[in-house]
Amino acid sequence: MNPSTAAQAAGARAGKTEEPIILCQDVHKWFGSFHVLKGVSTTVARGEKVVICGPSGSGKSTFIRTLNRLEEHQRGRIVVDGIELTGDLKNVEAIRRDVGMVFQEFNLFPHLTVLQNVTLGPAWVKRQRREEAEVLGRELLERVGIPEQAHKYPGQLSGGQQQRVAIARALAMQPRIMLFDEPTSALDPEMIKEVLDVMRELAHTGMTMLVVTHEMGFAREVADRILFFDQGEIVEENEPEAFFEGPRHERTKLFLSQIL
Ligand code: ADP
Ligand code: MG
Repeated sequence: MNPSTAAQAAGARAGKTEEPIILCQDVHKWFGSFHVLKGVSTTVARGEKVVICGPSGSGKSTFIRTLNRLEEHQRGRIVVDGIELTGDLKNVEAIRRDVGMVFQEFNLFPHLTVLQNVTLGPAWVKRQRREEAEVLGRELLERVGIPEQAHKYPGQLSGGQQQRVAIARALAMQPRIMLFDEPTSALDPEMIKEVLDVMRELAHTGMTMLVVTHEMGFAREVADRILFFDQGEIVEENEPEAFFEGPRHERTKLFLSQIL
């Protein structure tokens, strides 16, 4: 056992938690003169499920996009899976491999089949052989419940099916962290459940997940912790039960009264 492993094992015996997979310390970001993130600090443990909610425009998307460097922060520290997010381009590639993301708009390539959408990343970025990528791709389509759609094009699928393809595509890179930005907001009501079911199953595999959503049933059931954003700050952070039953901040109370 090397010294650091030994230290970790000793830490675990002493009841200390492992190093967080995500560390944010006083993260600030501006769009021009607009101060969009005003000192966000939080940590996420390996395997933890964090739901992020808050009013429109409060910085939720910007925040999770800083975690895979789709947005740069200008002050503070972000460390993701041991990688400090700096201007160093090599880090950006490593981060994008480690962190999968699913967007509100599914962002599939319309001219590629479902299977091609899912295998493109591994084939290019990981230089995986085509057959190998296809075996994994089919497994993932099976996992998200649409193996029979492999050779269709995104335009031939329902919104719920397209979003499940987008999840399979992100998983094909074998990420350690999955970010979801309002993954069900563009879906018709009857399709929301099928996407949340896939996310719930993913949660059971132990994946670290950060999910921006207003699906409070999902949050109650799956989240270990809820972060409430308002005007570029985390104004409240709690376990689901305490968050819903006893919100402390006036802004949280107002938000919950509007959406529940
Ligand atoms: P949320 O996801 O909580 O709705 P966003 O993170 O998308 O909020 O946006 C936070 C604020 O930053 C909003 O006021 C939005 O208009 C602004 N904003 C987002 N992206 C940009 C951008 N690329 N340039 C300028 N302003 C932006
Ligand atoms: Mg958003």
